Amino acid sequence: MRQVAELEDWISEGGVVVLSGAGLSTDSGIPDYRGPSGSARRSTPMTYQAFTRDPVARRRYWARSHLGWRTIGEARPNDGHRAVARLQEAGAVQGIITQNVDGLHQAGGARDVVELHGNLARIVCLDCGELTPREWMAARLDDANPEFRGVATAVNADGDVELDDAELDGFTVVDCMACGGMLKPDVVYFGETVPPERVSRSFGLVAGARTLLVLGSSLTVMSGRRFVLRAVKDGIRVAIVNRGVTRGEPYAGVVVDAPLGIVLPHLASTVATVSS
Ligand SMILES: [Zn+2]
Repeated sequence: MRQVAELEDWISEGGVVVLSGAGLSTDSGIPDYRGPSGSARRSTPMTYQAFTRDPVARRRYWARSHLGWRTIGEARPNDGHRAVARLQEAGAVQGIITQNVDGLHQAGGARDVVELHGNLARIVCLDCGELTPREWMAARLDDANPEFRGVATAVNADGDVELDDAELDGFTVVDCMACGGMLKPDVVYFGETVPPERVSRSFGLVAGARTLLVLGSSLTVMSGRRFVLRAVKDGIRVAIVNRGVTRGEPYAGVVVDAPLGIVLPHLASTVATVSS
């Protein structure tokens, strides 16, 4: 546990910027399909191109996403999310960047979270840009599909579920109430780029950090890994707490392979003791 002791020292010095991934939300019942405990998904993730160009793919996606929202929308923050919020409150954490789209950092008490990939709780109109709450969309889809009885078997971290296509036929999608345009969850799909202002804000946070603390991310996708690479380039130390192997290990001075729901509350109580 020498690594944990070193991590305590680093965090106690403050200036920590958190980069979190799906592994932080698994204890909230949202499976990490890339992680060691995640079930391998059968279907490929929705791409922006398929969503916007293929009406059948879009209808099937909305049916699956509508079911997935019942799980994601009811998920509650876990001890890991709350510990990060305590570390922020204590002044040790000065920035939070998340790859998750579940909003659980904020539900756990964190502030000023950069949601790199957006948030499933918001719906955006691709034509007029209006943002509306997911609850409205869920209610409208329920009204438009009174006979829909699909049951989700496995929900993915992006709110998508596994469901036979036969069950999706006949599902009715609804459009923007303001302009009649195409609606989409306000999340970044595969094949879509992260909005530049979120990327630059995140790079700014990393540039001002003493420690970049990666939580529950295998760093498989470049949208997250690039911040680790930038930190290394700038001489900022990197720590990782994650279950299983990550692609960031060659760059990290500290790597802790342990449950986040145990390690993070421990760190939060240690740092609170140090700073009080
Ligand atoms: Zn619109």
